[in-house]
Amino acid sequence: MDYDYLIVGQGIAGSVIGLQLLEQNKKCLFIDEKIWNSPSRISNGIVNPVTGQKYVKTWLFDELFQVAKPFYKRLEQLFGVNLYHETSITKLFSTALEANEFDSRIADLKYVDFLESAIPNLDDRLKGAFKGKIKNVFWINTALLIDETRKYLRKNNLFIEEILDYSLIKKTDYNRFIYKENTFNKIIFCEGAKGTNNPYFPNLPFVLAKGELMSVQFNHKFGNEIIQKNGILSPYGNGKFKFGSTNSWTDLTPNPTYAGKQELINKLEQITDLPFEICEHFAAIRPTTKDRRPFLGESEIEKNIFILNGLGTKGVSLAPYFSNMLIEFMEKRTTILPIVNWNRFEKKSIKL
Ligand SMILES: Cc1cc2nc3c(=O)[nH]c(=O)nc-3n(C[C@H](O)[C@H](O)[C@H](O)COP(=O)(O)OP(=O)(O)OC[C@H]3O[C@@H](n4cnc5c(N)ncnc54)[C@H](O)[C@@H]3O)c2cc1C
Repeated sequence: MDYDYLIVGQGIAGSVIGLQLLEQNKKCLFIDEKIWNSPSRISNGIVNPVTGQKYVKTWLFDELFQVAKPFYKRLEQLFGVNLYHETSITKLFSTALEANEFDSRIADLKYVDFLESAIPNLDDRLKGAFKGKIKNVFWINTALLIDETRKYLRKNNLFIEEILDYSLIKKTDYNRFIYKENTFNKIIFCEGAKGTNNPYFPNLPFVLAKGELMSVQFNHKFGNEIIQKNGILSPYGNGKFKFGSTNSWTDLTPNPTYAGKQELINKLEQITDLPFEICEHFAAIRPTTKDRRPFLGESEIEKNIFILNGLGTKGVSLAPYFSNMLIEFMEKRTTILPIVNWNRFEKKSIKL
């Protein structure tokens, strides 16, 4: 079969760019292994407009939001499932200093749609002397997104379940790629943390970060809001919550650890005294990068081989916007924002 694109990896990056290409009537074939608890599947799926300890607006938030929201809403229509959930984040502060930092940001008019100080009717089972609210937040049920995308691709014969073997990619005389029995105009690598081994994009400055997260259940009905203190407790249906996460740059093994679980339990106990049942405990490696910006662009080793990776801790918000940007580049040779071009590290003139 002849295809326009081969998409390697069907996490958030591969799913989003592939579905956008299908929306543009491109012929795509996707390749990934059997469904597993990839970072994309275990993620809280949160898109948060204001992040960090200084509560500043997320990098490029307005642009990202404008593309992400309608895109995920279109996917809901396509799959006939509920993926997109609007919500807010209740912030619990341990100290007056943290609360003051938050309140001083509220004074900035740019934040009027995003931050609120007093929270009336807050659940009295939550610990924290000071509270604030982040508005205009949404979360995506990413496990459902990955599973529904896989189902859709299979139904339309657009999916092969296997790990791609780089050595089997060959070139035809007329500048197409052959992989096994199929040919392609272009290949896009969306391999997440496994992209560290990709021979077409060697030595990418990934700074991978393992994250552990657990799903929990309470014998108490919290609302539908996300609760954040030194961890994030986010509802994901059926009365269950995800609670995460940890960060490790040294242990990059894929398995959940005892230490990780203890850290999460300690953090959750600082949010509430209520007993909870741990339903599942996950670990995955985030494809984070040296300067926390994604990797987009074309290989310098082989033309028409592209990358969409380095989505780090923000795959859900970044993927729709940067997929659009990469598609424009692949189809029309428009420019890629220099600070997300994967080869930016060699170009010393670019201010990171
Ligand atoms: C605990 C935790 C919580 C998180 N919470 C959030 C959150 O709230 N909001 C947010 O936006 N982000 C969150 N993230 C980050 C988010 O999960 C990542 O940004 C995102 O999953 C990256 O997606 P990806 O598609 O690039 O990578 P991945 O999810 O790793 O997907 C890559 C896919 O490529 C496949 N693959 C790799 N190599 C090959 C090959 N050679 N052949 C075939 N297939 C291959 C893999 O099997 C995998 O399915 C969280 C991450 C973690 C770990």
